[in-house]
Amino acid sequence: MSAVTLYRRSRMGVMRLLPVILRTLSKRAQYSTQGAIISNPRGRSRQIRIGDMDIVPWTTAGMESCVVVSLSIGQSKKLHLAFDMGYACQQSVKCNHVFISHGHMDHCSAMHQHASKRSLMRNSPAKYYLGSELVRPMETIQENLNQISEFPFQADWTVTKPNDVIQLPGPYHVVPFKTFHRVPSMGFLLYKTTSEVKEEFSKYSRSELKQMELRGEQVYNEVVSPELAYTGDTTFEVFTPPSIPDLLKVKVLITECTYINTVKNINEALTRERGHIHLHEIIRNQHIFSDVQALMLVHFSERYKAENIFHTINKLCPTELKGKLYSACVDKEETHIASY
Ligand SMILES: [Zn+2]
Repeated sequence: MSAVTLYRRSRMGVMRLLPVILRTLSKRAQYSTQGAIISNPRGRSRQIRIGDMDIVPWTTAGMESCVVVSLSIGQSKKLHLAFDMGYACQQSVKCNHVFISHGHMDHCSAMHQHASKRSLMRNSPAKYYLGSELVRPMETIQENLNQISEFPFQADWTVTKPNDVIQLPGPYHVVPFKTFHRVPSMGFLLYKTTSEVKEEFSKYSRSELKQMELRGEQVYNEVVSPELAYTGDTTFEVFTPPSIPDLLKVKVLITECTYINTVKNINEALTRERGHIHLHEIIRNQHIFSDVQALMLVHFSERYKAENIFHTINKLCPTELKGKLYSACVDKEETHIASY
């Protein structure tokens, strides 16, 4: 029997979907009312589709964090990105752009393993975007590993900092932003550029617009939209106010929420001191997320089981917030994703 457990809210209240039920569902069943699709487990992890983004979250505070995001870039091509690399999960190996939020082991210690796995799969070296303070130590580790390994691997360490513009294949680019943690840290905001017909030309057909374009008229506007943000480890200060205003306008915001209750005196002040976010801060400030379409909480403390997380969030969060809320954690070596 699969150990994967999913939860959803029904008219009858909270319902736990037992593993035995999962086995009878179609390969890609829709579980949530928000239109998100959670896939069946692939290995120990599973994927959620929110809008046009496929997300594989694998994060536990202090242990390992890696969030894989896959996007279509046309002609059946996909862009695979990884945010943090504390665990080189199977789905992360296809990622050739890896964004590192900070130098704590649970967020970056699997970069070399990721590079080595890609090398064995005959993939080109990935680009690892990281703070300048991390590059030399990572190069040294790579040199040492390549000395003892029969199969040396390559890695492209790329220094980045807040407000850089990192161009990616297709219509996407990433802008790092400042976050607040115990060591130098940053989050990442993914943008998409699309073309939109100018309002004054909206009444024309496609072929008429084509004719106008051929005559040299500018019928399209370029629209840049904030699609997804990943905060990595940070205090709530990252949102009040955000150093990059688009942070609170993204379609999908993936943020840490290390603590969810006050057991063992883990209150908001102590959480802040440790450089993290408490669920109570998110609830108290829920109004600031009004423009965010989907809010995914990750990076829960290892002390919480998947059921604790689901029931606490479900009990404490107001209905309006729950309408856009997801949580993802790792429990018993498997991912558990919930919508509310
Ligand atoms: Zn950290």
